[in-house]
Amino acid sequence: MREHGAASTTPGRVGDVRRQNLALVLGNIGPDTRATRADIAAATGLTKASVSSLVAELLETGLVEELGVTRDGERGRPGVGLALDARRGALGAEINVDYLAVGVVDLHGTLRFHEVADAENRGRDAEDVLGELSALARRCVEAAQTAGVTLLGGGLAVPGLVNPARGTVLTAPNLGWRDADLSTALGGLIPDAPFGVVLSNEANSAALAELWYGHGASLRDYLFISGEVGVGGGLVIGSELFAGPQGYAGEVGHVVVEPGGRRCSCGGRGCLETVAGQEAILAAAGITDGGSTTAARMSALQAALGAGDAQAMSAVERAGHYLGIAVVSAGRLVDLSAVVLGGHFAALGTWIRPALLSSLDGFAPGLVPADRVAFSELGTTAALRGAAGGALLRALAAPYELLP
Ligand SMILES: [Zn+2]
Repeated sequence: MREHGAASTTPGRVGDVRRQNLALVLGNIGPDTRATRADIAAATGLTKASVSSLVAELLETGLVEELGVTRDGERGRPGVGLALDARRGALGAEINVDYLAVGVVDLHGTLRFHEVADAENRGRDAEDVLGELSALARRCVEAAQTAGVTLLGGGLAVPGLVNPARGTVLTAPNLGWRDADLSTALGGLIPDAPFGVVLSNEANSAALAELWYGHGASLRDYLFISGEVGVGGGLVIGSELFAGPQGYAGEVGHVVVEPGGRRCSCGGRGCLETVAGQEAILAAAGITDGGSTTAARMSALQAALGAGDAQAMSAVERAGHYLGIAVVSAGRLVDLSAVVLGGHFAALGTWIRPALLSSLDGFAPGLVPADRVAFSELGTTAALRGAAGGALLRALAAPYELLP
């Protein structure tokens, strides 16, 4: 895997200023903006000659394509429209406790291929899980090739604390992984990809996916809470992920909401996860293991809620109550007034929303208004879209890496 940013320490033929200008020009070309060279010169303050030369190089990278002559626009003379080339994309993948997911997102943000496989990954060897994921990913990579989409890089999201630079999972309690080195497996997912495959935290990736492809664009500042077997979170402030000094910020699932409560997978006690994670809700709803998968039990819970089952309703209301406590605490601490809920919280949205709103209103009236409580519509694609989007951003920030 090529190290991100390696070129900055390697003498190359593209100088620093030119690198910055390439990225600057590229930043003015969108999926369908059809910006002309004259538009870009006006927007960036660069001369038309410079822009033409930079665009020529960007065309060489394959990130940009010409869309033919545009009609006379507001700016007068006709020019050739430029757009990001949808034949470039990135692989996104997610390992979760009870499923694996892969997909390809192109430079227009379109999810081109997508596959989810139920899996019981809890306690399994990282190597075995990566083997299964690689097989899924290979199908996706082949489908992309067949469709003429060149993969620039990729991302793998896991429900745990990761070191992206080293490709290691420090700890993923719900998978039972500690200090798992995935670097070799990551390198093998798309061997030729110029921007490699980078590890990320599942909730952080899903939080970013919400920003790029979901509710986040209009909210800009929000707490994303991902409900899976574990409960993860991501803080987005000023349309950027706030990762914290060590990259572990936003772990709202391990904020204490019930002092003296049950032991948590993190080693703590009374965390949000112990009262609002899938297992906690299922147990409170009386939907016991019985050998069936978590996904099947979640479907059973939805069916019970649909039928108005009192125990199921009470379990979800309890989760909504504690969710409200965690949102209020986080909101007060970092001055946030919006929340986006994903994973099982989104799946249970209809039923959990009233209890959550009532909790928010009870603990901090007016802090998080009802119209700033959003439920994700990205489902199991959220984390992989975010992971792929991260790879696309790496490419767009360093287009010179693609020059011969
Ligand atoms: Zn915890």
